Amino acid sequence: MDINHFENSVLVIDDETFVLETTAIILERMGFKHVLTAESVEQALHMLANSQPVIKLVLTDLNMPGADGLELLRRFDDHGYQGDILLFSGEDSQTLRMAENLARARNLSVIGAIAKPLKLAALSVILSAHSPQTSTLEKQSDTPWITPEMLKSAIDAKELETWFQPKIDIASREPVGMEALARWPNSALGPISPDVFIPVAEETGLIHSLTYQLIEKAIKFDKQWRDQGLDLKMAINISMDSLHDTSFPDKLDKLVTDTGGKLSNLQLEVTESRLMEDLVRPLEVLLRLRMKKISLSIDDFGTGHSNLTQLRDLPFNELKLDRSYVHEAENSTRSAMILESSVDLAKKLEMTIVAEGVDSLEAWQRVEQLKCDQVQGYYTAKPMPGGEVPAWLASWPELRRKLFS
Ligand code: C2E
Ligand code: CA
Ligand code: CA
Repeated sequence: MDINHFENSVLVIDDETFVLETTAIILERMGFKHVLTAESVEQALHMLANSQPVIKLVLTDLNMPGADGLELLRRFDDHGYQGDILLFSGEDSQTLRMAENLARARNLSVIGAIAKPLKLAALSVILSAHSPQTSTLEKQSDTPWITPEMLKSAIDAKELETWFQPKIDIASREPVGMEALARWPNSALGPISPDVFIPVAEETGLIHSLTYQLIEKAIKFDKQWRDQGLDLKMAINISMDSLHDTSFPDKLDKLVTDTGGKLSNLQLEVTESRLMEDLVRPLEVLLRLRMKKISLSIDDFGTGHSNLTQLRDLPFNELKLDRSYVHEAENSTRSAMILESSVDLAKKLEMTIVAEGVDSLEAWQRVEQLKCDQVQGYYTAKPMPGGEVPAWLASWPELRRKLFS
């Protein structure tokens, strides 16, 4: 692979928006500066002909409705495409290998074929192997490159921390909860973002020990704050992997009780896009959690492709509108209408609606108008270390006066 790949455009083709979004994030983190995405072969060909800088690397799904990946290979060949291709697919490895052969027979440069879901590790192995200098990926990227071993030793050494961001009730303008957010204060590399290490934890199975460790740390703060008379819900992000583990509710119950926490004070946030992949197994776990009086939130709502009627059948109490959704509604009436009807229906389902990424007074007013219940965002508070929360709460009345005067 050419070192200039980072400067050239890279194109990802898949019919699933969620796959496009996550792959684009992975590629950007690896250092690619121009990541394009297409949902169909037609759209891809249009980009191939028109994009600047030129496309020199294409990652494509083999299975798409309408014109599929095999047809795409033919059309790319007709087009005289000279760059590299990486195939991915939910098909078995034999099908992938045969598609790879077909592409080579067409004189296309196929640098690999990998199974879906795409994993950061697999992708970086293939792309680095095709890079003239294997270390280029590390150097080019401005986000630190972490290995599963580094993460494992950080978890073993209990180095990960929880920071907290307040959820504010719109009507009373009072803080009603805190969301715990993972932080890795890695001394050599500086703090590492959860967007970098959570996917690594999920790929390697480290997510379970990570989740329990963060829950334990969050619950200790929860207990401290309640002992000080502070009444706040404690929201914790959990990975979909936890919902596939039928022993999770009981393990969580034991951990929270042993740490002196209160189950009914707990909210678990699960990301919506992954929730919709397979509902049957997680449903049992979700119901068990609800029966333990734990509140459940759908996170990042609006980024996947669920519809609200699916939500009707899931035992969720809270819906968190993704920040991109909240911002899009500002610029597009269509997005605003979708946002409005989501809020409407969620209300009818008696869910609490939290708007994320509210970073200005205008955004606050917009979501207030939409009848959202709570707000979380930089306008009211950025995430902070647990030790700073009581002081922030004490300063809130003054801060609130300034923000809303
Ligand atoms: P999330 O659950 O959607 O968390 C909200 C993210 O948005 C946080 O990023 C927060 O700092 C950021 N944010 C909040 N308000 C604003 C705003 O006004 N503007 C902007 N631009 N950003 C805002 P953070 O802490 O980097 O977390 C990123 C994601 O990592 C989280 O997204 C969550 O999906 C995941 N994550 C964090 N902690 C954990 C954890 O303990 N377990 C698991 N499984 N995932 C976690
Ligand atoms: Ca969250
Ligand atoms: Ca979110």
